[in-house]
Amino acid sequence: MDDNKEFQGYKGRALEILKRYDVHVWDKAEVETTRGHFSGKILPRAENTDDLHIVMKVVTGYNIGIDISTITSMQGERDPQPNFKVPEKEFPYTPGLPHVKLLGTGGTIASRLDYRTGAVIPAFSPGELFGAVPELADICNLETEKVFAVFSENMSPKEYLALANKIGDEVRKGIDGIVIGHGTDTLAHTATALTYMCQNLPMPVVLVGSQRSSDRPSSDAALNLMHAMTAAGHGDIAEVMVCMFGPTSDEYGFLHRGTRVRKMHSSYRSTFRTIGDTPLATISRKEGVRPIKEQYNARRHGKEREVEVITTLDAYKASVAAAKPNVTRIVPVFDDRVAILYYYPGMKPDVLDALIDRGYKGIVWNGTGLGHVNRGMFDAIQRATDAGIHQYMSVQTIWGYTHMFVYDTGRDLMARGIIPAANMLAESAYIKLGWALGLSHDREEVRKLMLTPINDELTPREPIDGYLVYQGGVPEVEEFVHKVHK
Ligand code: ASP
Repeated sequence: MDDNKEFQGYKGRALEILKRYDVHVWDKAEVETTRGHFSGKILPRAENTDDLHIVMKVVTGYNIGIDISTITSMQGERDPQPNFKVPEKEFPYTPGLPHVKLLGTGGTIASRLDYRTGAVIPAFSPGELFGAVPELADICNLETEKVFAVFSENMSPKEYLALANKIGDEVRKGIDGIVIGHGTDTLAHTATALTYMCQNLPMPVVLVGSQRSSDRPSSDAALNLMHAMTAAGHGDIAEVMVCMFGPTSDEYGFLHRGTRVRKMHSSYRSTFRTIGDTPLATISRKEGVRPIKEQYNARRHGKEREVEVITTLDAYKASVAAAKPNVTRIVPVFDDRVAILYYYPGMKPDVLDALIDRGYKGIVWNGTGLGHVNRGMFDAIQRATDAGIHQYMSVQTIWGYTHMFVYDTGRDLMARGIIPAANMLAESAYIKLGWALGLSHDREEVRKLMLTPINDELTPREPIDGYLVYQGGVPEVEEFVHKVHK
């Protein structure tokens, strides 16, 4: 065992137990423990975990840690050539199929298990992708580019700007659709940013992720990718969208507008939901894109494509006023001195004072109920307004609108400079404020930009079927849940 590289520099107790039973890393093993029997493959222990467990990939595909003090016996069968690489194949070219560009940013969708650390790491390669999901070749001709390789908590305005410029380049080149592989945690933030930065697109831009990595049997990576490629290559909706699992089964996916979508469950595959509206469309391999919303920006089939890169307010206003149908606006601007303040009872004004002192330019409040914070914040809010900080109010309830005329708190807050952001999601308002401040710092101009919808980040009303949150306990809901929860 000493010559096993995976264990170099490591002399822990887990190693001793493997030695005692003559079991090796990568062996197919049967392990008896005081907690039951486990069969699976022994994995190298992560560098940064304790030496009191051995790690196994069990038949379900999950990795488990077994406390060595519970092990009563082990038996191992050697795997002569352990191979955990996804086979790489060259993506074939099929005349007649649409050309789709996949821009990889990282996240679980581009991940595999790293047997050195035991963690899921970003690893993106076009050949690997095709090797893993050969059906993609029936959908489109694919070109891929790894733009970043990060988990999505590391995405930031800098990356949004780079992606917006890349989309502009691809529009110019005449691509039929773009898919952006992205971690799910902040997928919606990037989708909303790209909606403001890439306007009047001639073809779809589809952001896709997966909740479970492709080495797990329940992975949603392949299906989400197939759906995203279908929507990007064949669909008629030319907007920035998020494509993820629809119901809990793999029957169909949803396409959500980038500005109204949110990750709503930390582990479910069907985690993305449109808030305050219905999803834009369903997507399946059999039926393609089926719009749910009647109004959307349709694909332009003509070859004529013009791209304007806009970085000033005057140029933006002129381009919007001109409304040339074939012109795509790329508006890659962002002032990152913006924050979201989530109000909690007992919040003290020093939190806001710190932002004022640090030169922040914009704050999106996420207030209680119809848009409230406590009275103790009032003076600091006035100070922030006097310092030129643009303040907007969104609601913690997630669904619904700000209504700041109802209670005196709302009126007092507006009198101190806070502007209600209607039914904009806090994240969407935050990104939009950073984008708007990239164009202007004039209070009235920023207000106009903020309150003029670009793609449904503000809607005039919430349809009755835009608020459906089912919980069990009553017969009609139980029946419904059991029907859809396969
Ligand atoms: N933490 C990961 C990310 O957002 C999760 C995922 O990809 O689903 O990058």
